[in-house]
Amino acid sequence: MSDDKISMNHGAGGEVMANLIASTILDNITKKSVNGGISLDALDDGASIPLGDDYEIVFTTDGHTIDPLFFPGGDIGRISAAGTINDVSVMGARPLAISNAIIMQEGFPIEDLDRIIKSLNEACQEVDVAVITGDTKVMPQDKLDGIVMVTTGIGIAKKGEVIRDSTLEVGDKIIITGSLGDHGMSLMSFREGFGFETDLKSDVAPMWNIIKKALEIGGVTAMKDPTRGGFANAINEMASKSGVGVVLEQDAIPIKEEVHAVSEMLGIDPFEVANEGKVVMGVKADKAEEILEAIRSEKYGENAAIIGEVVEGDYVVVNTPIGGERILEAPIADPVPRVC
Ligand code: MG
Repeated sequence: MSDDKISMNHGAGGEVMANLIASTILDNITKKSVNGGISLDALDDGASIPLGDDYEIVFTTDGHTIDPLFFPGGDIGRISAAGTINDVSVMGARPLAISNAIIMQEGFPIEDLDRIIKSLNEACQEVDVAVITGDTKVMPQDKLDGIVMVTTGIGIAKKGEVIRDSTLEVGDKIIITGSLGDHGMSLMSFREGFGFETDLKSDVAPMWNIIKKALEIGGVTAMKDPTRGGFANAINEMASKSGVGVVLEQDAIPIKEEVHAVSEMLGIDPFEVANEGKVVMGVKADKAEEILEAIRSEKYGENAAIIGEVVEGDYVVVNTPIGGERILEAPIADPVPRVC
């Protein structure tokens, strides 16, 4: 692929995509913040608009191009709702509503659209989020692959209480709310045709109820959802934006047996593939156990774990069970395309 054309890697959530955004999008936009809120330049999970003295609106948007549309554990409707709700939630904001734009290929089965919208609705209902606006468009048969959905989410936080992905502090503990790699690995194994031989399914789920519990306890310093580029991308982004290092204990990081198995078969690192129902949290050390317990009591949080801590430094390091250590780098691009 020539350097002056878009390649699949430009949408794959790694270094290649980050470079494209920096060199084309950020450079060409003039006004990137309102009322001193979190700007486009922050490239956080969402942006914010402070309103008056009391509140901050959190705003985010997400395009969904997943292939296949229906997969073990979910479909494009559920992922559209959950993905957007999660980007609002990891900003520490209560998600209120989403919009949903649908672009369909001529000939798309109405029955499938019905299933997709019911599934989107179900994910919204889990966290009491409304769908308040949308758009529906159709393109000629050979111009689009099935259906593309664009979801925008809006939430609210008390002013000054919005949580960033760039505010880890030395001494914080790192919590992951469940096992890593489920979405990317299940999607990949399904596409490769051995999805029916495993119980593996996507973790796609709205995370607000878990995050709300953690916020009520207090001491959450930074959050991010490890979607495209996986946990490796999320933790590296959090560490580098915060100007800190992170030390992780490999033994403490939850990964399902089936994910390990598929990962070995395909030669894909479970740390580098998307999760759609997980949160990486930095929390104050003295609150870590209490927050962990609260998360574990919630649906989708049973396998949460404290997996490491924030240190002074420039790298994310993983201590291996045999006493070694390795540097965990952000992937160039997510190894699994069209994952969300
Ligand atoms: Mg995100």
